[in-house]
Amino acid sequence: MRDTATAPLDLSAVAFIDLQAQRARIGARMDAAIARVLAHGGFIMGPEVAEAEKKLAARCGAKHVISCSSGTTAIVMALMAREVGRGDAVFVPSFTFTATAEAPAILGATPVFVDVLPDTFDLDPLSLERAVAVARQTGLRPACVMPVDLFGQPADYDPIRAIAAQHGMWILGDAAQSFGAHYKGKPLGVCADITATSFYPSKPLGCYGDGGALFTDDDEVARRLRQVRVHGQGADRNENVRVGLTGRFDSIQAAVLLEKLAIFDAEIAERNAVAARYDAGLMGAVMTPVVRAGCTSVWAQYTICSPRRDRIAATLQAQGIPTNIFYPKPIHTQAPYRALPVASGGLPVTERLAQQVLSLPIHPYLSPEAQDRVIAAVRTAVA
Ligand SMILES: *Cc1c(COP(=O)(O)O)cnc(C)c1O
Repeated sequence: MRDTATAPLDLSAVAFIDLQAQRARIGARMDAAIARVLAHGGFIMGPEVAEAEKKLAARCGAKHVISCSSGTTAIVMALMAREVGRGDAVFVPSFTFTATAEAPAILGATPVFVDVLPDTFDLDPLSLERAVAVARQTGLRPACVMPVDLFGQPADYDPIRAIAAQHGMWILGDAAQSFGAHYKGKPLGVCADITATSFYPSKPLGCYGDGGALFTDDDEVARRLRQVRVHGQGADRNENVRVGLTGRFDSIQAAVLLEKLAIFDAEIAERNAVAARYDAGLMGAVMTPVVRAGCTSVWAQYTICSPRRDRIAATLQAQGIPTNIFYPKPIHTQAPYRALPVASGGLPVTERLAQQVLSLPIHPYLSPEAQDRVIAAVRTAVA
């Protein structure tokens, strides 16, 4: 989700993600908010950071919000706070952004790869059970399961929670693409034991640099997360009670986030309108994204699936319409992760999706005319 976020503006083209159009809406407020930080000079963990944490907590109902320096750092911090490390299995999908598997690997834990469901692209509970069996046979201790709320919609937390409980595991929700979405009426942020999100600029709720946050209802976990965020600092700055890192959020990014939070609900509604229009226009031509019953999506991506994926991408490219493939190389096939365990039966859905998925331009400012061009081009390619 990174390459086109900051591409220069070309008015003749359809933008994959359009942050400049958002600036037309809130740019003046944003510039003033940034100027206030420059004036007060409290650049790290300033008043904007406290306010952003309070607003994020109010939004999803989580008891604690711990902002941090990126989505990847958020995941690492969560695993550090729960003392996950060598000998521990952390169950992750392979059909996701690298950071999901990278975080446990950084800490010496073993990512164990789980297949995904063919319609919603998120963690397959049956494959999870098979992966837990493989981990036990390998002598690993099942510690944590990390469902990814891929492309903006929640993973299926209820069956995953049942399996986790059966094996004494806790759940770390990777909501990097999906903060703002709901699972059966509950906002992401309160669906897992710890939820991690990212404010990378191209995510549905982004800032103008790197940033992230952690959500939990657990007082002890929250206390440890706040220690980990500042080098394991205890009661005073000269006392280190655990190993930590530099994980803080900064005030300029928090100021940007606050302005974006103010229009987030409107933008989510606009993203949903774009997705509904794509659904209607593309129905029957390609497999359109499925949102699980009772759940909502914030549409980080609008991802279609077709055996003719490469032809569709080439046709769109010829017409100046950008697309992206998330993700063309599953993590378990990448060099650092190739030797790691996977669920028995392999990851056939993941491997097929890598060949067939294509993400189309989606953002709150995509005009119906631009969308019609995209829809017509996809239909031409598969005709
Ligand atoms: C973006 C992303 C991350 C990492 O977030 P950063 O802020 O870029 O570190 C982790 N997991 C998923 C699924 C993501 O899409």
